[in-house]
Amino acid sequence: MLSEKIIGIQKEGERALSSIKTMAELEMWEVKYLGRKSELSEILKGLKDLASEEKRVVGPLGNAAKESLMKAFEETKETLFENSIDWERERIDVTAPGTAVPRGHLHPITLVEQQIEDIFVSLGFTVVDGPEVDKEWYNFDALNIPRDHPARDMQDTFWIKGEEKNKDRYLPRTHTSNVQVRYMEAHTPPLRIIIPGRIFRNEATDASHEHTFHQFECLMVDKEGVVSVATFKHIAETFFSQFFGKKVRIRLRPSFFPFTEPSFEFDINCILCDGKGCPVCKQAGWLEIGGAGMVNQKVFEAAGYPRGKYQGFAWGFGVTRLAMMKYKITDIRLMMSGDLRFIRQF
Ligand SMILES: [Zn+2]
Repeated sequence: MLSEKIIGIQKEGERALSSIKTMAELEMWEVKYLGRKSELSEILKGLKDLASEEKRVVGPLGNAAKESLMKAFEETKETLFENSIDWERERIDVTAPGTAVPRGHLHPITLVEQQIEDIFVSLGFTVVDGPEVDKEWYNFDALNIPRDHPARDMQDTFWIKGEEKNKDRYLPRTHTSNVQVRYMEAHTPPLRIIIPGRIFRNEATDASHEHTFHQFECLMVDKEGVVSVATFKHIAETFFSQFFGKKVRIRLRPSFFPFTEPSFEFDINCILCDGKGCPVCKQAGWLEIGGAGMVNQKVFEAAGYPRGKYQGFAWGFGVTRLAMMKYKITDIRLMMSGDLRFIRQF
């Protein structure tokens, strides 16, 4: 009878399903037991031809068998899918250490330059840029160093081929001071700027001399009587204390620079021995650091400012030197070597 046949199909289908191992087998099973031409589908299609009494029994039984087989099919499908995943490979260990992503390294000069800029910006200074190759006027004449001035010999200069005889020659700047007059031409005091940058000197190289190095220039100008040597000393002490992370004192010694009057060189107490005396400071307890002074009125005049109206200080300092002190680098030539074994340490 049809009812027995349906029960038989269901049992056989369930048994066949339990031994299925692959998706391909499962697909074949689906065609055989649930497909449009399967025995069960044929029986259900033929329901309309049955006597109503038989229809009432066979109909619900056939539909129940079909539903049951479909449910078993879905379950088997899910199990097969889960078994097909390589859980060991898919496993995510959230406690495993991360893979290191290779990163670039900032050059020690860049690191120090960024730190210098941060400190000065916090003191109200603006960071200003300028040309590395500039007119002789901005590098020398405007800073009270005319062509025949003996101070020109203080800075061994590279000259550009073919420029020697030009009246307004260009040259690789010998200091960042070239930006002083450039900036003042376009701005009226009060002004507080720092100018970090690359400079060039025609020098023989050794462990402490390089033809190309980094400097920064600091310029603070206001009306006559506002900015004094005491202001410079305070700004410089604040800067070096923040830079080295400990209290640093400044000592001034009289000196001469054409672009400042008065001029002085300044030392900081040795940061390695705190002034007690060590090989680095040659037992002096002080380290020579840079030059500074009150801006010469002739420089203001070159920038177009009236004489005697403004007063300010300017100082220059070697960023390369500062980086060498900070990271205890003993050979300046490493800075420009491009040697990755050096750079990767920072
Ligand atoms: Zn020392």
